[in-house]
Amino acid sequence: MRDMRYRLRHFLARVFEAYQLCNHWFWEGSATCHFHSVKMESGLTECMIGGKLSPLFSFGVIADVQYADIDDKMNHSHTKWRYYRNAVHLLREAIASWNKETRGINFVVQLGDLVDGFNLVEKGKSESFAVLKKLMTEFENCHVPVHNVIGNHDVFNFLRKELFEMNFLSGYVLSRNSGSIINLSPVKNEALFGNSQDSVNKDAKEASFSAFCESLNVPASDFPAFYHFFPQKGFRFIVLDSYDLSVLGYDTDSDKYHKSFKLLRSVNKNEQWNSPQNLKYNQRQFTGFNGGMGEEQLTWLEMQLKEASKEEQRVVIFAHVPILHDVTEGICLAWNHEEVLSLIHKFSCVIAIFCGHTHDYAYAKDALGIHHVVFPGIVEVPPGQNGFATIDVYEDHLHVRGVGMMPSLFLNF
Ligand SMILES: [Zn+2]
Repeated sequence: MRDMRYRLRHFLARVFEAYQLCNHWFWEGSATCHFHSVKMESGLTECMIGGKLSPLFSFGVIADVQYADIDDKMNHSHTKWRYYRNAVHLLREAIASWNKETRGINFVVQLGDLVDGFNLVEKGKSESFAVLKKLMTEFENCHVPVHNVIGNHDVFNFLRKELFEMNFLSGYVLSRNSGSIINLSPVKNEALFGNSQDSVNKDAKEASFSAFCESLNVPASDFPAFYHFFPQKGFRFIVLDSYDLSVLGYDTDSDKYHKSFKLLRSVNKNEQWNSPQNLKYNQRQFTGFNGGMGEEQLTWLEMQLKEASKEEQRVVIFAHVPILHDVTEGICLAWNHEEVLSLIHKFSCVIAIFCGHTHDYAYAKDALGIHHVVFPGIVEVPPGQNGFATIDVYEDHLHVRGVGMMPSLFLNF
């Protein structure tokens, strides 16, 4: 019976591939097809295998909510509107949709830039805190754990240690005292800092986080926001910290800040470090709103990929900033994207990388067949639409069920 089911699933998978190919030819060149899209109509998978095969597990993904209680404005390049107040309604709609999933989902990944920089610029730090608290409260309505990926707007509004104290970020450190590995998953975070609803007692949380960092002999201000978790046997999910090397979120007297500043300014000598003006191809990512992955993170990533390969696990990576040129205009890229990608390419366990930051949906398959997917930015989704997804994980493919400006995709591995 199991064998029959296996054969049936493989037969259906091949039918899908054929459909996908035809569908790709159809969509190629259409206005909605960014890069090498594998768009397919939502609902097809449902009717073909719905009821016969269940996914191994499912999760929700949303990017660049960038909420602020301010009037709508054009983006920095004056090409698109940003609907700041509406963003929270779209987030609520996404959470309600995930809560209504008949088979249920296991967790949600928020790909970064939850709180827009204008909160700080126009209304000050207390507004940044109030808005982050408001959005974290929205996420508390979600029936499953939420993984928050670090974005540039988050570290523009806050010092990274404040984001840990608010129980917004999770991370991984190597204790400098015992040499043991501390992997702070959101669940372990809760054990340390309490539930985020308990954010009233900020002083106690700050003291708790400082004491925790002191016990590890790790500076609280430099705490990294990368970690891994196991959603199900056979799968390892990795959250990267795209602002590990960054001029945002660090105390300006910290080593990390100085190192990052030096690196950025060795390439970008413009008066405004957010300007890519006069930068050559493959240098244009060196701006203040992008960042990079440092040595310690890359050593950790290599160890993760080595372990995953040994244990024959499939790896999915989440990062705010893309690491493949083909899914961006060449500006919204990690500073050392080539270094990160070549490290990933040393292994064959990574199946997909999900990012945000550019605000435009994009898809590309890299030279080694890894799927790179960039999610649309919620803040730029016009009212009446949305742009999130629910991703079903099967043994040989991911089915991205997109909503609105996020298309549905069928990603084989
Ligand atoms: Zn961003």
